[in-house]
Amino acid sequence: MKVLRTVHEVRAAELQRVGLVPTMGAFHEGHLSLFRAARAECDTVVISLFVNPAQFGAAEDLSRYPRDEARDAALAERAGVDFVFAPTAEEMYPEGFDTWVEVGDLGGEGAARPGHFRGVATVCLKLFNIFRPQRAYFGQKDAQQAAVLRRMVRDLDLDLDLRVLPTVRDTDGLALSSRNAYLSADERERARALPRGLQAGRSAHVRGSDPVAAARTSMNGLEPDYVEVLDLDGVTVLAAAARVGSTRLIDNIVLEGEL
Ligand code: AMP
Repeated sequence: MKVLRTVHEVRAAELQRVGLVPTMGAFHEGHLSLFRAARAECDTVVISLFVNPAQFGAAEDLSRYPRDEARDAALAERAGVDFVFAPTAEEMYPEGFDTWVEVGDLGGEGAARPGHFRGVATVCLKLFNIFRPQRAYFGQKDAQQAAVLRRMVRDLDLDLDLRVLPTVRDTDGLALSSRNAYLSADERERARALPRGLQAGRSAHVRGSDPVAAARTSMNGLEPDYVEVLDLDGVTVLAAAARVGSTRLIDNIVLEGEL
């Protein structure tokens, strides 16, 4: 496995038939499931490892976001990754950088974190242009992110197959997330109310009652930022964000359709 740090190095490598997995590191089984899928389907597997400042708000956790490149590189290599692209912020956003991709509003995270998806779409378009991947892999854990990027691919005529893979969860239902590392034992216990609430919401939806009300009731002990039914280009999702202590967690469950 090789580590590439600059766009120039990537171009010189002349990679063909690339499967790309964009990440911010602190790998867990959720990331590894994407790497393995790319390995099974693509000749060249590239992952990017970049904590993208453009998608963090001023009051968010950019500086404390977990970073351990050596650990991540070892896990990626074991999962069969060929190249890790780990650029600096200056490489991605050099002096004078001022072009941004704004994808139409989808509610939920977009409303709760103004500018977040602009940062995500911009960095992903850059990565798609740098690598020209045949396929790019994303997790359902961030269903809105996947929907925003699908829309960008469609609207800007990108020649790329965007794959969305199921959310990997711990045995107690909590979605794996790099941010789970911030949780104390007590907070980790309380965080279980997030997937429990979403499950209760889906059951209510199946019975014909209000999924949001049912989810909120089951999320006792948590103060959700939002619990919302979202239409992600024809797929109906129940999505929620909640703060557990100082950690903000997101999760979602599909009510109708397939991502
Ligand atoms: P991140 O490093 O958090 O930006 O995530 C990189 C990719 O991994 C994104 O496409 C996420 O949706 C995906 N991902 C994160 N957590 C999970 C999970 N628990 N299951 C599946 N995919 C995930």
